Amino acid sequence: MTTTQQELHPAVVKFLSNSPKKMLINGEFVASKSGKTFDTINPATGEVIAKVYEADKEDIDAAVKAARTAFEGEWKKVTPKDREKLLNRLADLIEKNAAEFAQLETLDNGKPINESTFADVPLSVDNFRYFAGWANKIHGETLPVSNGNYFAYTLREPVGVVGQIIPWNFPLLMAAWKIAAAVAMGNCVVLKPAEQTPLTALRLGELIIEAGFPKGVINICPGFGETAGAALSSHMDVDKVAFTGEYITGRKIIQASTGNLKRVSLELGGKSPNVVFTDGDLDAALSGCIGSVFFNQGQVCCAGTRLFVEKKIYDDFVGKLSDRVKGIKLGAGLDPSTQMGPLVSEEQLKRVTGYLDIGKKEGANPLAGGNRAKGEHLDKGYFVEPTVFANVNNKMRIAQEEIFGPVVSAIPFNDVNDAVFQGNETTYGLAAGVWTKDIKKAHSVAKALKAGTVWINCYNVFDPCAPFGGFKQSGFGREGGIHTLELYTQVKTVWVNLS
Ligand code: NAP
Ligand code: MG
Repeated sequence: MTTTQQELHPAVVKFLSNSPKKMLINGEFVASKSGKTFDTINPATGEVIAKVYEADKEDIDAAVKAARTAFEGEWKKVTPKDREKLLNRLADLIEKNAAEFAQLETLDNGKPINESTFADVPLSVDNFRYFAGWANKIHGETLPVSNGNYFAYTLREPVGVVGQIIPWNFPLLMAAWKIAAAVAMGNCVVLKPAEQTPLTALRLGELIIEAGFPKGVINICPGFGETAGAALSSHMDVDKVAFTGEYITGRKIIQASTGNLKRVSLELGGKSPNVVFTDGDLDAALSGCIGSVFFNQGQVCCAGTRLFVEKKIYDDFVGKLSDRVKGIKLGAGLDPSTQMGPLVSEEQLKRVTGYLDIGKKEGANPLAGGNRAKGEHLDKGYFVEPTVFANVNNKMRIAQEEIFGPVVSAIPFNDVNDAVFQGNETTYGLAAGVWTKDIKKAHSVAKALKAGTVWINCYNVFDPCAPFGGFKQSGFGREGGIHTLELYTQVKTVWVNLS
């Protein structure tokens, strides 16, 4: 047993003891048909945590078949009230096992235990409860048709079998965002977690059985994007695919969906502007900037990675930011004193350090960080220094491309118009931040920025009732709130002849 395992919750040790981990298809945990497995790695140490059966096309076929059978059979008989009960029961079970989920997430993804404990797990619970509440509240309408010989009404019906493909940055939370709304609206689901972080989704699968969901309603199949993900997004019997990940993969998902014209919703990446005006509360802005960039090692789609600071205060603000950033404590996520953990994988480490080199070559000045992190406890893991690049202009690659790591590019601006112009000068449009005490300026900038979410004098605030999603190449469709229900229902109009 390694040192890390000795620190683990007994339930986590028990969960990891039966490896390879099986996938959930038709209410049972099964091995892959090919027998193939892959390793999931602890990014703090590079060690294998567990082996996981790898879903391929045949497994996805079986899962889709199970979902279809459930959708046309047992699941149809379950009332909205009982769907609500099932989702609430699942939320209660996650809450009951919260400490275990938090550890498992930290182990698999690397994030600090405080983040998985106080963000990932409770937000997942909230999300299941929120959408549980919608199960018996969404309804059709009666229509004021002009011809009195007819009566017409609408029904809101589920879409059917939904394929859901999620990334590794918030594994449990992304699973919760995807599954809860779909199931609340009466759909059946095949979820493909990211290959880097399959564990919490598989543990969730155990609780799905315990909660009493009929078999086949929720299937969970870890595997690789090019095989399992592609099989799901191109499957002729999948009615909708909901995807979260990179914009390049988003394009592939759309292409794969054309065979049966399945519905698609995409939550993609971002390069979000965070705009600090001289008249803002600069202490609050400083803390807000740090949270916006370094939370989850910067592996956040809406991270405020383009920091626009008004010219008059640029040097002072960016200097203070760098001083604070140099003090961020790196370490294994399981250590409660850790403020920033490792990146999720070796591949991600290469990507981020590659961008650190690109930034330096472009002439940006790393005021803090700029390299892979070194140290006795860091060398085996995928740690990178939290980095502040000054002397950046908005045309540089480090200002335009999503790095998906703890790297902020600080860019000066002259006035409101310049901030809005540069802020919008990006192919993305996921989120933005504005820091000012001038209420008029705050709202006019919020209106002018092309982004799906704008935070004023705050950043990274979430609630299940708040829609989240992209403008431009950050995708389409909104997850969160009533808008999610549009993704998972379709409207039927019924005409009745009264004459
Ligand atoms: P990714 O490479 O696009 O992967 C996302 C998921 O898609 C994974 O499950 C992946 O499987 C799968 N996939 C890969 N290729 C596929 C294909 N050809 N067909 C079907 N599925 C495929 O993204 P990532 O690097 O994991 O995650 C980071 C990205 O997600 C960033 O761009 C980030 O901004 C975005 N993100 C967006 C949001 C949002 O709500 N807008 C939230 C979180 C993250 P594998 O297991 O093989 O990788
Ligand atoms: Mg892992």
